[in-house]
Amino acid sequence: MTEQFSRAYWEDRLAGLSLDRGHFIEGKVQPAASGKTFTRTRPMDGQPGAVLARGDVADVDLAVASARKAFASAVWRGKEPIEKKKIMLRWAELIRAHGEELALLETLDVGKPVQASLGVDVRLCAEGIQYYGEMVDKLYDEIAPTGPKARALVRKVPLGVIAAITPWNYPMIIDAWKLGPAIAAGNSVVLKPAEQSSLSALRLAELAIEAGLPAGVFNIITGFGEEVGKPLALHMDVDMVAFTGSTEVGKLIMGYAAQSNLKRVALELGGKSPLVVFEDADLDAAASAAAWGCFYNSGETCHAATRLVVQRSVQDKLIEKIEAVVKREIALAHPFEPSAQIGALIEVEHMDKVLGLIATGEKDGGRRVFGAERVLSETGGYYVSPGVITDVTNDMRIARQEIFGPVLAAIAFDTEEEALTIANDTIYGLAGAVFTRDMDRAHRFSEAIHAGTVWINTYDMSNFATPFGGFKQSGFGRDRSVHAIDKYCDYKTIWQQFG
Ligand code: NAD
Repeated sequence: MTEQFSRAYWEDRLAGLSLDRGHFIEGKVQPAASGKTFTRTRPMDGQPGAVLARGDVADVDLAVASARKAFASAVWRGKEPIEKKKIMLRWAELIRAHGEELALLETLDVGKPVQASLGVDVRLCAEGIQYYGEMVDKLYDEIAPTGPKARALVRKVPLGVIAAITPWNYPMIIDAWKLGPAIAAGNSVVLKPAEQSSLSALRLAELAIEAGLPAGVFNIITGFGEEVGKPLALHMDVDMVAFTGSTEVGKLIMGYAAQSNLKRVALELGGKSPLVVFEDADLDAAASAAAWGCFYNSGETCHAATRLVVQRSVQDKLIEKIEAVVKREIALAHPFEPSAQIGALIEVEHMDKVLGLIATGEKDGGRRVFGAERVLSETGGYYVSPGVITDVTNDMRIARQEIFGPVLAAIAFDTEEEALTIANDTIYGLAGAVFTRDMDRAHRFSEAIHAGTVWINTYDMSNFATPFGGFKQSGFGRDRSVHAIDKYCDYKTIWQQFG
């Protein structure tokens, strides 16, 4: 680790930062129409963080009007594809160039290690904008088969105004997953970041303007779900809501769409993903995948492998190995410490929820093997150590409810059939994994897990070329890959009859 990234370096940068922010409407920073603000509390030490505009319906109306104006005037979608591509690629470069600043903002809001914000979140955000920027001049329409006297063009057209409502766990990455394809397809966007994590998005919007994105194409209203997200999702002039968040709020979003203008909805929701380990597996690989798959980002990951479904004969050995991986590799520390691999949880209420669920797990008969307790409380921050609870059965709350903390619930099985029943016995279907050296079984099992992504002998491999999203109550619609463009477009057929 270079001196540049020492704790003192980040403390210094933080000292020079002003954290008063407004909305971003029509290419400009603007206060809330009501003049109201709210203050974010920093997860790393419980100190006051950013002061943000507290939006309401009046601000939502302004932002939607700005987005509509940009769309109607074709100031963006009417540009030459090569021009749009250049602007998006310049935007990606600016994100990289301002990487340290963006990483610091993300860490202040979310409490994750700043090195991870820089090395993962900023990098993937820039890659996302770049990926879709590169697609802009490679999107073709179709000509349908017809008789010789006519031609039918099948055009893929942008929807119009997209509301993107996002969660707090990977703000910059998820913003890029929405903004990249929506903007590349020619839409305008109003983004409502989670109230816990608005800072990086606000900077992304300024960088977009600097790159040449016309004013009004990307607007942001900060504030709370009921006060900003709800009026956005109910808005009669919004054509689609692209939502990532909890299943509970996802259901509300569908209701808002139905109550208003039948706007389209895409939902990326929660998960309770199983990582299934058979006794013939490479247990070292499985232990590493289980530890990182569950504990990365302090478990605040929608597809975290929170259920370890393990063959009884190897359960104890595997858990010992998982503990060894945690001790060796997954240091929990203040997010500015270069050694930190995981940092704080998002806020005190969430930490209490995680601790409550751990207590319920123990009360229901689970046994805490290591970790899973509050640590570093003297910092004022919200830290829970990575840990494993064993003797869990799949009907316990700790096996059914999304925990969103660094806690792995181990559930033992004896037969393959039983393992599959446990793996699929969940309302969610976001991700899953199987570890075995028997390739027939690996294939059979990976086909049978009902989830949007399944890994064999690994966990959490991903890239922009692969779609990401869920089955069942993990939602529908896919982020990432060329397919994500489709959900921000509609087909339009144009018939022409010849002479
Ligand atoms: P959340 O559902 O509480 O909030 C998500 C967003 O919705 C926030 O911006 C919030 O302000 C807004 N919101 C809340 N109430 C609303 C309402 N009534 N109307 C409109 N908007 C409203 O989720 P969270 O706590 O921010 O994030 C954690 C959740 O997100 C977890 O369930 C996690 O699994 C999920 N998630 C899913 C994915 C995925 O890709 N599937 C990725 C990351 C997170």
